[in-house]
Amino acid sequence: MRTLLLRNWFGNVRSLSSPQIICRHFSNETKNFYDLVVIGGGIVGVASAREILLRFPKLKVAVVEKESKLATHQTGHNSGVIHAGLYYKPGSLKAKLCVKGLKLIYDYLDKNNIPYKKCGKLVVATRKDELETLQNLYSRSLENGVPDVRLIDGKEISAIEPHCLGLKAVHSPHTGIVDWALVTNYFAKEFQQLGGEILLNFNVTKFSESSSPGYPVSITSKDGKQISTKYGLACAGLQSDIIARLSGGAKFPAIIPFRGEYLLLKHEFEHLVNGNIYPVPNPNLPFLGVHFTPRLDGSIWLGPNAVLAFKKEGYRWTDFDLNEFTSIVTNPGFIKLALKYPAFGLKEFYKSCNLNYQVQDLKQYIPNLERNWVEKGPSGVRAQALSVEGELIEDFFFETGNQYPGEFILHCRNAPSPGATSSMAIAEMITDKLNNLFHLSNLNN
Ligand SMILES: Cc1cc2nc3c(=O)[nH]c(=O)nc-3n(C[C@H](O)[C@H](O)[C@H](O)COP(=O)(O)OP(=O)(O)OC[C@H]3O[C@@H](n4cnc5c(N)ncnc54)[C@H](O)[C@@H]3O)c2cc1C
Repeated sequence: MRTLLLRNWFGNVRSLSSPQIICRHFSNETKNFYDLVVIGGGIVGVASAREILLRFPKLKVAVVEKESKLATHQTGHNSGVIHAGLYYKPGSLKAKLCVKGLKLIYDYLDKNNIPYKKCGKLVVATRKDELETLQNLYSRSLENGVPDVRLIDGKEISAIEPHCLGLKAVHSPHTGIVDWALVTNYFAKEFQQLGGEILLNFNVTKFSESSSPGYPVSITSKDGKQISTKYGLACAGLQSDIIARLSGGAKFPAIIPFRGEYLLLKHEFEHLVNGNIYPVPNPNLPFLGVHFTPRLDGSIWLGPNAVLAFKKEGYRWTDFDLNEFTSIVTNPGFIKLALKYPAFGLKEFYKSCNLNYQVQDLKQYIPNLERNWVEKGPSGVRAQALSVEGELIEDFFFETGNQYPGEFILHCRNAPSPGATSSMAIAEMITDKLNNLFHLSNLNN
């Protein structure tokens, strides 16, 4: 059982346990037939599974996850921020789902007594040439309906973050922090209470035609386990292109893994940062830039950067798989991307190897920061969807498989960041899509 230590704003240290997820023991003797199977136990898959059963309680639904616990990849390796929706193009799905998702998630956290902190966020311009982009960001956030957002000057920046120096900033007081893996486990617990089943250690390697009437899709795991279902939903994050191709899906969008490495502020310097401090983002890139992020345990994470990972789940420099690496670097979309942003790619590699350089970046915001105040921290790997033209795909991308029985499986091939913040809103959208495609309401009788 996972235990989360909470300190600082609760006064004393206290612990909060993750809800216990009871996983069904798989047996080839029992009837493994479902109305719908969700592939992927990250926050998008589990939130969707919960929403499907809330709406269609008579369905028999299972989540299959290849790891031995839920939320092992992107969901359990991220900044833990509840984003308010400052950045995204007004009217875009990303903007709408983030703003809606923020409200839904705060209501859910309150209802279930899940710890979070609304520590707010500053996007800080430290140079004059950033002011126009900051102003645009402010206008965007107003258009997106981000609550109580303000443009503030250097004096107000210091009042909110006494150690941060900047010319101007956008302040979002409702940006928060939470443990997204813990939230996923709460969703999972509710899904189970609604009758859903979770099968861990089920690594999907094959979709085929099932011989059981009424259950056209047979799903086979790497170790030979088999289940049959009427319909499928794949939310496989970093593996979503591979899973889509197993059911005849197109080669693109391809998923290119970008590792985001964090530094940690040493314990004795954690008091230097109160809330989230972000740079003004480069409008041409999907990354928000290296930021200061407080965590619920009181630690402060600095990052993440964005370096090419040598394999999809490559959390360290030493995680290398020749086949995966070859398929990444020979991908025509990736080659075009690398040629488009050679300076950015090389700079991120250099920074990853050179802590001084990273600290130099961070000193723009907290000038007192010293190299020996930080140490290497954890990392996450982002599933970046890429077109054959080498464009970074920032929109949601759904498709059904092509070859029978793939047409009964809906693939979420791209759930862009901030997918955790938006997860409850994404789950509503996915459930609508599934119902439109597969008429789930007819099965719910
Ligand atoms: C470094 C970083 C920082 C981020 N920061 C934030 C943030 O602060 N706030 C925010 O809102 N969002 C943030 N995000 C984005 C957010 O984490 C993701 O959008 C979200 O977690 C995506 O969830 P998911 O369920 O789609 O993917 P995942 O969490 O990756 O889940 C996919 C699941 O599918 C499973 N799977 C894959 N293949 C198979 C298979 N063959 N069989 C069975 N199961 C399979 C995997 O094991 C995995 O558990 C960040 C992302 C990264 C990488």
